[in-house]
Amino acid sequence: MKNSESPRIHQAIKIATTAHEGQLRKTGEPYIVHPLAVKKILEEWGMDEDTIIAGILHDTVEDTNLTIENIKTEFGETVAFLVDGVTKLGTARKGMKDLDSYLPETKDNLLRLLIATGSDIRVLIIKLADRLHNARTLSALPPDKQQKIAKETLEVFAPLADRLNMGRLRVELSDIAFSYIDRRRYDYLKKLIETRNKSSAKSLKKIEKEVSDILTKEKINFEISGRIKSVYSLHRKLEKYNQNIDAIYDLTALRIIVDDITSCYLALGLIHSLYTPMGGRIKDYISVPKQNGYQSLHTTVITPDKKIIEFQIRTREMHEYAERGLAASFFYNEQKVTENYKQGKIQHLPTNLLWINELQAAAAGLRAGKKVDIKKLKLNLFADKIFVYTPKGDIVDLPKGSLPLDFAYRLHSEIGSHVVGVKINGKMSNLNTHLHNFDVVEILTNKNQTPKTTWFDKVITSHARQKLRAQLSKIPKKSIIPSKKR
Ligand code: MN
Repeated sequence: MKNSESPRIHQAIKIATTAHEGQLRKTGEPYIVHPLAVKKILEEWGMDEDTIIAGILHDTVEDTNLTIENIKTEFGETVAFLVDGVTKLGTARKGMKDLDSYLPETKDNLLRLLIATGSDIRVLIIKLADRLHNARTLSALPPDKQQKIAKETLEVFAPLADRLNMGRLRVELSDIAFSYIDRRRYDYLKKLIETRNKSSAKSLKKIEKEVSDILTKEKINFEISGRIKSVYSLHRKLEKYNQNIDAIYDLTALRIIVDDITSCYLALGLIHSLYTPMGGRIKDYISVPKQNGYQSLHTTVITPDKKIIEFQIRTREMHEYAERGLAASFFYNEQKVTENYKQGKIQHLPTNLLWINELQAAAAGLRAGKKVDIKKLKLNLFADKIFVYTPKGDIVDLPKGSLPLDFAYRLHSEIGSHVVGVKINGKMSNLNTHLHNFDVVEILTNKNQTPKTTWFDKVITSHARQKLRAQLSKIPKKSIIPSKKR
């Protein structure tokens, strides 16, 4: 234990250790190892003391004799509220039955879940820290549990981290999960990245030097470093580009961090004076940030030696925010963000604070006994994604505009190939019906059904398209009924 730790944190560790006494993790270690790991993650994210204490205590109410009342007496209202929120979220995932009291009028589990956490977003941050440590120690679990947790991590928690602009977390969660879901592919791509990086190391060094020289000459304060693409994001990109690795230009990128926005644009100009920018590949996420608040300048250039390389240019603040996201906005407390905004160091306040405010208002309203209009409650968080449920209540996320066959292929390619119909929210529906947020989708199959070329018109995801193409290629040509449309 560190000496710098506050008496309250000390006390929380003592209480949690006693409460979990005798319990073991699946790894064989004493249970307390887990809450302490969660504590460390929350500290790394720069969270406040109440959140750290709640992180230490997060499993006590569900798994030990400690009660919320005990926690309230010892650590106060806020910590008790946070622990209660994390506990409810755990229950929520199992069936959400006790969340009925929150929103009896809706069966939308994810919405309930978000409102339960929305009242204090720190609940979600503790949950993400909890999930991160569980993912890191996933090898201790039996294979079926590993698959289930890996899938959920990839489908719910990694997108959530992305929405909170917690880039570093998103990368770690999705890479761990993907390594369990498709080990061979993971190993293959990891190797591929390494090999490619090794062979480009020399030319990269040369480019790094040329750029450093010109930035120094122009008296721009900077840091430069290589950014290696994550395995899972390469996998996703390869799916999008028909597995053509040569179409992927950002396998390695150079990242330049400068003092202010003016220097970002100056650096961009200098890079373009050295190398030829590729058309259509200059992206100004500083003027127009991504929806999750991400800011940076991106450009892909061709060097005289015909090397293609991507540059990402941003300020220190933008970098912190891209890596740590929402947690960083706690770290750099609101005042600092506002101060930077006033001084012109950042042009936009973090956009994600908007939906958090909205969610918090809804949750506060509910607690005060007010009726909340669910339809009016916009979930900006998932604006370009929808979440639908299997009849068993598992959550699947899909791009907006997805159709039943996209969903079916997402569940399993064998389910996809045998689709004969679909029930949406209990009603028989057409395969051309767009799915909506929180729909419960039941796929009807028949073992005699075979995939059809006409189905290409009924899918929008590259995943479904790819599976369908693979299945059709195995069917003898003459039995394929040609599609009228192309
Ligand atoms: Mn836990």
